Amino acid sequence: MSTPAHEAPQPVPPGAWLGLLGGGQLGRMFCMAAQSLGYKVVVLDPASDSPAGSVADRHVVADYLDPAGLAALRDLCAGATTEFENVPAAALEFLARDVRVTPAAQSVAIAQDRISEKTFIAGHGFPVAPFTILRDRDDAANVGGNLTPGIVKSARFGYDGKGQIRARTRDDVANAFVAMDESPSVLEKLIDLRAELSVIVARDDVGNVATWPVAENRHRNGILDVSIVPARVAEDLAGEARTIATALAAALDYRGVLCVELFVAPGDALMVNEIAPRPHNSGHYTIDACVTSQFEQQARVLAALPMGDTTQHTPAVMLNLLGDIWFEADGTMREPDWTRVLAHPQAKLHLYGKREPRRSRKMGHVTCLGANVGEALATALAIKRELGIPE
Ligand code: ATP
Ligand code: MG
Repeated sequence: MSTPAHEAPQPVPPGAWLGLLGGGQLGRMFCMAAQSLGYKVVVLDPASDSPAGSVADRHVVADYLDPAGLAALRDLCAGATTEFENVPAAALEFLARDVRVTPAAQSVAIAQDRISEKTFIAGHGFPVAPFTILRDRDDAANVGGNLTPGIVKSARFGYDGKGQIRARTRDDVANAFVAMDESPSVLEKLIDLRAELSVIVARDDVGNVATWPVAENRHRNGILDVSIVPARVAEDLAGEARTIATALAAALDYRGVLCVELFVAPGDALMVNEIAPRPHNSGHYTIDACVTSQFEQQARVLAALPMGDTTQHTPAVMLNLLGDIWFEADGTMREPDWTRVLAHPQAKLHLYGKREPRRSRKMGHVTCLGANVGEALATALAIKRELGIPE
């Protein structure tokens, strides 16, 4: 599927500087992949000590809208990307006047706001859970009975299940809206989830598209716990998920790496939950299990290089490591015993170098490889037990 909307750009050869907005773990893994290809990376992030800033070749400590910080990136880089979807679109637009920026500010802006995201996805004919937009108290008081029980989700700045309140009745919806400071929100019908899937898709300037195998995601307390890849679903359902992701990337005229999260509703009906205009936690397995990782692909598209092969060479289960495992039952803190993880020869440990462990904070992940998904899952479950991560 290709919609060549742009001329093929000039490749940015290795050795050049690439810019990155955001200093989190996604940025850290982008830096490592880009550096491995021979690029230098400059990170713009306000925190002096950040996972990406500490591995970047240069770290500009400034706010995303700081004119001097943005100018430093513009002057140094041949291209810039983002690891953080809440980066102000104005920052990307500023950079795009002079350098290549992938993804485009426009794509990031759509994904930043649940209202524009849902409207875009549904408006382009993709299946979504039934929803309505809540802009004021009247909207909240008059929602249709078909939308409850449901979930009120704030339009902006939600992640890891934050900014969401479940509502059983119409009154609950009204109360949730007030509890969220009456900020613009969507109410989404609660779906009886059979599974949650995600597809990472990459698309370049001339419309070439590549998807990775579908991940089956399990959450704990609203946070991704494990991703099992390939997903244990029927082949045609997985194919349908990849087709949706490909079509969505085309609808957005997307350039870069995009994650499409999907629900499997009863009857194997797929619904798009949300999109992330960047690599995604559920795609971390690609580092160890695929020919090309999502982070390398992000660098390749940014540098206008040919995309790499997305074939998965080894079945994998990715396990998130949250700050909780740094705490004993009595609240005292200690470093987990990583030798127990590394004693599993097929477990690949990734720690993000965050100095302060906090409960629910993503501190690292382990990708367990195996001859098949069952074997990889058995290793992941053993590691969970050893580290004290609940089932
Ligand atoms: P993240 O950034 O971690 O992806 P988020 O805060 O953006 O999360 P969502 O992806 O919208 O939020 O929701 C988090 C989780 O809550 C989903 O993965 C799913 O498990 C559950 N959830 C969200 N919406 C629904 C729904 N309509 N029906 C059933 N479960 C839902
Ligand atoms: Mg989500």
